Amino acid sequence: MTRYSRKKGNHGYTAKRKQLKVKRRTKDLDEIDNDLEPQNAENLLNQPIDLDVAGSAQHYCLHCARYFIDDNALQAHFRTKVHKRRLKALEAEPYSVKEAEAAGGIGTYVAPKKRKMETQKSK
Ligand SMILES: [Zn+2]
Repeated sequence: MTRYSRKKGNHGYTAKRKQLKVKRRTKDLDEIDNDLEPQNAENLLNQPIDLDVAGSAQHYCLHCARYFIDDNALQAHFRTKVHKRRLKALEAEPYSVKEAEAAGGIGTYVAPKKRKMETQKSK
C-alpha cells in the first residue's frame, strides 16, 4: 500500500447521481401528470389485489406514485414533507414540445399555468 492508494472524500457522490439511481426509481412528473387524468386516477386508485406490491396495491399515493402497506401509512405519508413538496412540484404544468417551440419562436408563448393540487380523497 502506497501512501496515495486511498483517496479521501466521496468521489463525486452527487445529488444528480442519486437521482439517476434505478433501484427506487418512480415515475417522472409528466407521467404522473398523465395519471392525474380522472380516468387514469380512477384505475390507479382501484387496482386489483396484487400480492407482489406493498399493501397488495390497495393503498396508492397518486402524486408520488408510491404504494403503502396500509391506510395509516398512507395517511401519515400525506402529512409528510415529501408529499407536500411533490404537490408543489406538480402545480406547474409539465414542459411540453409546444412550450419548447413557442420559446424558440414558433407560435406564441403562453406561460405555463399554475393549478391547484390537492391530496386525493381517502376511501
Ligand atoms: Zn404522496
